[in-house]
This record gives sequence, structure tokens and C-alpha cells, in this order.
Amino acid sequence: MSEFWKGKRVLITAGPTREHLDPIRFLTNASSGRMGFSLAEQAARAGARVVVVAGPNSEAVPPKVRVVRVVSGLKMYRETLRLCGRCDVVIGAAAVSDWRFQSYSPRKIKRSAKSVRLTMVPNPDIIKEVARRRKSGSRQLVVGFALETHGRLAHAKDKLKRKGLDLVVGNSQKSLSGDVTAASIVFRGGPVRHLPEMSKRAMAREILKAIEQEWRRKN
Ligand code: C5P
Repeated sequence: MSEFWKGKRVLITAGPTREHLDPIRFLTNASSGRMGFSLAEQAARAGARVVVVAGPNSEAVPPKVRVVRVVSGLKMYRETLRLCGRCDVVIGAAAVSDWRFQSYSPRKIKRSAKSVRLTMVPNPDIIKEVARRRKSGSRQLVVGFALETHGRLAHAKDKLKRKGLDLVVGNSQKSLSGDVTAASIVFRGGPVRHLPEMSKRAMAREILKAIEQEWRRKN
């Protein structure tokens, strides 16, 4: 990796979130956190100062990477916004739950309850808010992921615009678990780089190269 990353401050969100209904039950998703932790590993190896805001996952923490553990999407939102202001690059690799339960029962809900009616409310969009808070002329780069079952490229392009991001990595459902992934990286100006299936570690290096390229173009 190039000298570019030496001393750069990088924040990465990673893993799933858990939205608790009571102390025992929760809603989550199938994210392993491996893509986020691979990015952290490669960026730290290249000399960046890396913090990962991580939802519950069992990935090993790479050397020289600081991890802030969270459980819910709301907590991930608060921690990310607390830390992002001083970062050069923010990467949203987390699979944040789109909804959370409107109310939380501090006691376990009993099986004897006749019926349980659950209402869910939207979680805030973390990466969109990070991008929105940038001051004009900010050098910060904000990168998102777009995981779709269909229409990968169209959704990635749409997400880039809608969330005000600099780069979007579009990948398929296949990348949720396991160690390989294929992706299309969409750049702000419109170009797209298609990357064939490879290990998440190799993909992390490709994504970091694309970020470096975009940084040099923008700044
Ligand atoms: O809208 P969608 O969830 O498909 O967007 C995916 C991208 O947005 C990922 O980068 C993800 O980390 C980020 N995201 C977020 N907060 C949310 C939902 C998604 O940061 N509440």
C-alpha cells in the first residue's frame, strides 16, 4: 500500500446491529463484519489511525485497530457522529438495521402474553448524516456500501447521490457471509470500476486504492 495512508484518520462502521425487543430477543441481520474488519486491517497496516465502530460480531480485532463496541443502530449512530468530525475518511461498512422497536421491555416478555403487537420505527441513516454534516470545503471522504439482491449498479449510483457520498461499493448478497466478494465501485463523477470475485482482504486493498484515487482527485 502507498505512503498515502500514513497518519490518515479512518473511521469504519462494521458488522450488524441488534435491535432489542426485551433483554433476550432482538432483530438483527446476516452481516459477519468481515469486510469492515478487513478494511481496518489493511488501512492500519498501511499506517492509518483506525477506529472501528462495531456491532456484535466475532471477527478478530486486527493489530493497531481501536474498536468501539456498540449493540444498537442508535448507539452506532451516536458513537460514529461523536468520532467522525476528526477523521479524513469515513467508511460505512456496517449493515445497520433499518428499523428498531418503538418500545423496549426491560422485563422479558412472557410466553403467556396472548398476543404481541410490535411497532418498528426507522433508524437514522448514519453514513448519510456523516456526509450531511461535512462543512463546505471539507477534505473528508465518505464511503458507503450498497448490498442488493437485484440491480446492484443502479442502486449503488442512486445511493451515492441520495446520501451525498464520494464512493459507493456495490456488492451482492453473497458477500454477507464467507470470505469472498465481487463488487462494483461507483465514483462520484460517474466512473465505475468492476472488480471480480476475490477475498475480502484483497477487496479491502482495492477499495483503499479507490479511496486514495478519489482523495487525490478531490483534494
Ligand atoms: O440504504 P442502505 O442501507 O442500503 O445503504 C447502505 C449504506 O448505508 C451502507 O454504507 C451502510 O453502512 C449505510 N447505512 C447507515 N445507516 C443506516 C443504514 C445504512 O450508515 N441506518
